[in-house]
Amino acid sequence: MAGSALFMASVFTVCAQTPWQKIQQPIAGPVRPIGSYANGCIIGAQALPLQAEYYQVMRQDQRRYFGHPLLIQFIEHLSQHVAQQTSGIVLVGDMGMPAGGRFSSGHASHQIGLDVDIWLQIPRQRWTSEQLLHPQPLDLVSADGKSISSRLWSRDTDTLVRQAAEDPQVARIFVNPAIKQQLCRDAGSDRQWLQKVRPWFGHRAHMHVRLHCPTNDTQCVEQAPPPPGDGCGAELQSWFEPAKPDLHPVKPQPPILPADCQALLDKHLL
Ligand SMILES: [Zn+2]
Repeated sequence: MAGSALFMASVFTVCAQTPWQKIQQPIAGPVRPIGSYANGCIIGAQALPLQAEYYQVMRQDQRRYFGHPLLIQFIEHLSQHVAQQTSGIVLVGDMGMPAGGRFSSGHASHQIGLDVDIWLQIPRQRWTSEQLLHPQPLDLVSADGKSISSRLWSRDTDTLVRQAAEDPQVARIFVNPAIKQQLCRDAGSDRQWLQKVRPWFGHRAHMHVRLHCPTNDTQCVEQAPPPPGDGCGAELQSWFEPAKPDLHPVKPQPPILPADCQALLDKHLL
């Protein structure tokens, strides 16, 4: 009972509205991410173009397709390269809200315009608008969480993750531990790119790509780099012994907002 009460409480907290959702357009001004990936905001974000040759944007009704211009360039370049190598279409999920900030559901991070979720399936045919509005994720991980579902796995997924990881702007990529394990197995002798691919809860159908803070952006708080090595050894194994729950543990209350983000909220929501 205590467990289910806790679950209800956490669902309630997660679904509560946040003031950032009320900001409908990017804040005008020179581009400036403020704060950390999981506690911040962004001035001067741009919308990812919704009509594009090499990618498609899912759940456009949610308006979570805003980000730093560097993130937009990254998505455009990645999808073009992936299309050349696989003939498939890259499916783009959540980026950030127009001014960044905390979501009511789905993410702790994605707050400063430098994070994007990209699905690991790469369809050969463009999706219809109905499919994009109600996307069906392809769960690439087996029911016990210990391996990928080999029936659904495609080498295109290796291509996609590797292509993203080799971009010097990318700081980290989060995938399910079973997916990281498969990437480790498939990789040849060139394994440096695997360092950025980090095992994390969930992420069974998509990868979460995080860009570095742009150089000279003093208000953007960079994360410490991942540990050296390809991360395919003991650290990865620790995720399977015993298997971790699929859900992210309940997060503590959000920390205090950076002052410039609070000022921005005060100004735009008065
Ligand atoms: Zn994400």
